[in-house]
Amino acid sequence: MSGLRILVGCKRVIDYAVKIRVKPDKTGVVTDGVKHSMNPFDEIAVEEAVRMKEKKIVSEIVAVSCGPTQCQEVLRTALAMGADRAIHVEVDAATYENLQPLHVAKIIAKIAQEEKVDIVVTGKQAIDDDANQTGQMVAALLNWPQATFASKIEKTDGELKVEREIDGGLETIKVKLPAVFTSDLRLNEPRYATLPNIMKAKKKPLVKKTPTDFGVDVTARQTILKVEEPAVRQAGSKLASAEELVTKLREAGLIPS
Ligand code: AMP
Repeated sequence: MSGLRILVGCKRVIDYAVKIRVKPDKTGVVTDGVKHSMNPFDEIAVEEAVRMKEKKIVSEIVAVSCGPTQCQEVLRTALAMGADRAIHVEVDAATYENLQPLHVAKIIAKIAQEEKVDIVVTGKQAIDDDANQTGQMVAALLNWPQATFASKIEKTDGELKVEREIDGGLETIKVKLPAVFTSDLRLNEPRYATLPNIMKAKKKPLVKKTPTDFGVDVTARQTILKVEEPAVRQAGSKLASAEELVTKLREAGLIPS
């Protein structure tokens, strides 16, 4: 099964450590001057692809990112981690704000066909929109089997054996190739790109495309009505005893008196 080709989705998102601020007009969140990075689940996806290459299961890793010019930084990180080449599907900043999982899924599915890849891997979800849809939609568009929330992947003959994180446990499934899988947190611990690899990554091929090159219309299909910060939590108070707690709960009408 050597010689498989793998396509990895790498989304540029606001860094997980940044405190998100909502725009005053509530149309979205502030992105200007804010640190961005590769979606953490996508780092895990890239890491898994690189490990598969090290185990000689795959022979080529292609990274793809749809979004504004700065997505190329995310792609360079993927290349420094071990991806072989990258495709940047350029979408201007305004369009990117309304780019939806179906748009991205159509682009990824088309690239998967054109590049004749055997495996598509995406993160289980992007930490900005929390949609958890793209990988599943790619599988549906290609009519390929999918193994979502993967926490362990093993190669068997012509198939992948995948352990999936499900509520309260793990499920093990086999999927025939070609297939789509989405990475969960426990799949692996992504490596840091070393300085020599960051330098080497600058010379790896990165091609620029547009959604039109793949025949995909990225007109928004839904409208964001409002984005709000979570309600501020009320301060709690310390009580001296269980009796005091019961009295307080009675006073608040939360338990019968
Ligand atoms: P979502 O369905 O938005 O939660 O995203 C799930 C996964 O799809 C992400 O972890 C990425 O691997 C991939 N993905 C979503 N949006 C993009 C994008 N703009 N460019 C590349 N990959 C993306």
